[in-house]
Amino acid sequence: MSGRVLGIDLGTVNSCVAIVEDGKAVVLGEGQDRTIPSCLAIKDGKELVGQAARRQLVTDPRNTVTAVKRLIGHSFDSQEVQSALARSPYPIVPSPLGTVMLEVGGRELTPVQVSARVLQEILDRATELIGEPVTTAVISVPAHFTDVQRKATKLAAEYAGIEVLRLINEPTAAAFAYGYRKAENFTLAVYDLGGGTFDVTVMRAIGDSFEVIGTDGDSFLGGEDFDHAVAEWLLAEFETEFGAPLEDEAGKLRIREAAEKAKIELSAVEETSIDLPYLATLGGGENAQLTRTVTREKLTELTRGLMQKTLDLCTRCLADASLDKDDIDEVLLVGGQSRMPVVRYAVRDFFGKEPRRDINPDEVVAMGAALYGYSLCADQFAETAMDQAEDAYEVALKDAEIARKLLDEIKLRKEDNTDRAELKSRLNSLLEQTEDEVGPPTLREPRPEQSLVEDVRQSTERLQAEISPMDSLEDLPAAPVLERQVGEQDLGSAVKDVQAQVQGLQSEAREVLEALADELAAEEDESTQDTASTDSDSEGQAIGAAAERLSALIGNAAEASSEAVGNMREAGEHAQARKVTLADVTSHALGIAAAEDLFMSLIAQNTKIPAESRRVFTTNQDGQSEVNIRIFQGRESKATENQLLGDFVLEGIATAARMEPKIEVAFAIDENGILSVKARDKRSGIAQQIRIEDPLGLQANDAGVTGPESMIEEEDDGDFEAVDGV
Ligand code: ADP
Ligand code: MG
Repeated sequence: MSGRVLGIDLGTVNSCVAIVEDGKAVVLGEGQDRTIPSCLAIKDGKELVGQAARRQLVTDPRNTVTAVKRLIGHSFDSQEVQSALARSPYPIVPSPLGTVMLEVGGRELTPVQVSARVLQEILDRATELIGEPVTTAVISVPAHFTDVQRKATKLAAEYAGIEVLRLINEPTAAAFAYGYRKAENFTLAVYDLGGGTFDVTVMRAIGDSFEVIGTDGDSFLGGEDFDHAVAEWLLAEFETEFGAPLEDEAGKLRIREAAEKAKIELSAVEETSIDLPYLATLGGGENAQLTRTVTREKLTELTRGLMQKTLDLCTRCLADASLDKDDIDEVLLVGGQSRMPVVRYAVRDFFGKEPRRDINPDEVVAMGAALYGYSLCADQFAETAMDQAEDAYEVALKDAEIARKLLDEIKLRKEDNTDRAELKSRLNSLLEQTEDEVGPPTLREPRPEQSLVEDVRQSTERLQAEISPMDSLEDLPAAPVLERQVGEQDLGSAVKDVQAQVQGLQSEAREVLEALADELAAEEDESTQDTASTDSDSEGQAIGAAAERLSALIGNAAEASSEAVGNMREAGEHAQARKVTLADVTSHALGIAAAEDLFMSLIAQNTKIPAESRRVFTTNQDGQSEVNIRIFQGRESKATENQLLGDFVLEGIATAARMEPKIEVAFAIDENGILSVKARDKRSGIAQQIRIEDPLGLQANDAGVTGPESMIEEEDDGDFEAVDGV
């Protein structure tokens, strides 16, 4: 894992990516590029992703895939896919497995593959903008996403080469971004109305600990439905005006686009006009042109039912969490569709308070995901920063030591009894020792003698001017810095010591070098009368090189010690972030179907995750050797009225009369909201081979479906329910 974590909001319409920089979330990109259309197009056999694909949508909708998030993790027969089918300009077809295939540009693609391509584009973009490859990410998903949708998203990320640190629910991410490091106590409602989905989540913040207390939503309610409502009205107007419905597909697409455009414009102005010439050719060869004025009032009227649906879900969410509207301290609006003024007013009236205006509804989810990823890795980042601090300290210490030796040798030159030939060889050996650190001396070549004095003077000046003032440890926040021992000391005091040494060296070296320059200047005067001996010349070269090296080493040591301080400061910053905790909940009740289509819940909605639950079931036929375990999620008491997540058969049940066997079913849901289910016949005492049929043809292993594992014995709770026979 690299030293950074991306926060990715993989949206239905647009995606967004953020990282954490100096403890703050930063969205990557400039202007329009801060969001990336979740779009893939095929043009002349080549793939276009993001903005390039979005541009092609108008000219070639047939080969441009959008809103694939509405399809991911659904079977072809699902209500979601069936309604998408009616509106989709690109062909959606069933695969032999009953999953969804998209036919674009002569290729067959799955929603997972399309998402993977979009994610890859995001990753490439992030790598380019950050300037180093980053492959670890927290990815957000709608709170109401099912287990299968989560697995599918995770799989898409893995295909894109992303290491998924965690999946986070979108409204949870928004709430987290808002509350992060605020160190306050409050209860927050997030109203997230995006392109295709709606979620509402209530979260409680107590200082640095965040806990989701309730969540609800609709996977089929979003901005596109608002567009649809306007488009339907325009189509009805067309039929009234021209006496026949608009059949032309291209015309219908233009109506849908005009509807969305008008809807967005009405967020800024009270009234806008729609003018669509050449929608169709009428009987007499006449062109049908539709012109209408749309007001905010009209838009409100057309979308009132949709708006009410979102508020009903808010009511249900509060009731499930046993909260009153008055318990909500802050309201956040998230998702592009929440920019519509009527949405803002309706939410304000519902909660009786003005929603926050200081968050960007398009970016806050990615920011929250990035902050969460950062807080999950903060320990590790702090550790790495401390390692770097230690390395920098070692460099500072070593450079200061050698600088001390060089300085002592240079001082010896003044002593009358110094053998200059010996001094030269000692200096050269010291110079060699430091070559790796500051490079070879630049004074190797013999120079005209007058430049030696210059060189020494220059080194002196450098000691004065170029050594940056050291970043001092004094103002470091003391408490959060990680403990780290170097030798007998802690790293903080060791760095302080080395900084004191460097300071001492700096002033002493200045004096010594000034005196040396004077001495060399005097020697120079003498030697203009005498002929200079070659021996003394090369001793002069060594002294000059040593002076230069001395100032370089002191400069290095100062810099390295500052770097150590900077690293420790960074570690302190990371250490702050690791105190932050976040607990989310399940967005659905999860259970299995018992006899007579009874939905037996094992994990209730709004249960804190990760969670585990087990329940004992039995058979309803004598000698029954197999049971079919069908896993559902939802609120209905009839299992089949809920959503089927998957099923498997437990075989080899010990022969017994009906109601005798004890079949333990265990559910576990992880921090990503991903479920694993195990079943075991307690009588036979042997863990059974369990196959989980994967209804969506996701790769079983990649999608996180688990096989059997040994389970802990537990006392029967006497709660027996018959499981359907196979
Ligand atoms: P997602 O996260 O699902 O990709 P977004 O949060 O980007 O979706 O929201 C996209 C939806 O927001 C689209 O339906 C778009 O029409 C709508 N939208 C964007 N801007 C505005 C606006 N200014 N007023 C009303 N709706 C808007
Ligand atoms: Mg979104």
